[in-house]
Amino acid sequence: MPSSSRQSHRDNGSTLKWPAQISPAELAPPSEAQAHRFGAGRARNDNKPAWEPTIQPPYPWASNMRAKVLSLEELISKNIIVISGDVHCMECKKQFQIEYDFPSKFYDVVSFLVNGNDNMHDVIKDCKLCGRRKCVQPVISGKKRETNWLFLFLGQMIGYCNLAHLKYFCKHNNLPTSEAKDPLVKLAYTALHCQLDQKAYDLYNQ
Ligand SMILES: [Zn+2]
Repeated sequence: MPSSSRQSHRDNGSTLKWPAQISPAELAPPSEAQAHRFGAGRARNDNKPAWEPTIQPPYPWASNMRAKVLSLEELISKNIIVISGDVHCMECKKQFQIEYDFPSKFYDVVSFLVNGNDNMHDVIKDCKLCGRRKCVQPVISGKKRETNWLFLFLGQMIGYCNLAHLKYFCKHNNLPTSEAKDPLVKLAYTALHCQLDQKAYDLYNQ
């Protein structure tokens, strides 16, 4: 189907390919030994705290590596079956939490991803407080390391991230970045899918 005549308001994401040179091992969180090696070469600065390769996980389902989440096996072994995040209503201006059942919601999103949907349109939710429709957006932390990536993935809301958040995600996942937002959104969905399930890597390299 010719795409030029049916261009939607979103880029179709075809300009940024999943990098074939990245192996599943690179997408996985490094081992502790690797993490230490990564930080070992950095110069010490007495005035500034040393850059640490690991962070305090901002959520129980987040990894201690920036822009990474725990794998499906890790989440199940830790009995993490509810993923929550903050949202904000544009109408009543109130903030509340949404919860997703994991892993059932994960499989819903994956089926959407693997069925070749190039455009991951953000899901706009209704407000449970004021009852108005399609007025709820995720609250995305200004601190990029505190982005609730798994919540955004499950809620199909990654497109609400700004370019800086998406570039941060790509940088810490060894992914190419671009100035176009939509290819980065697609890459983020793909990479998060692979973080959760390393077998998914094969799906994107056929
Ligand atoms: Zn509301």
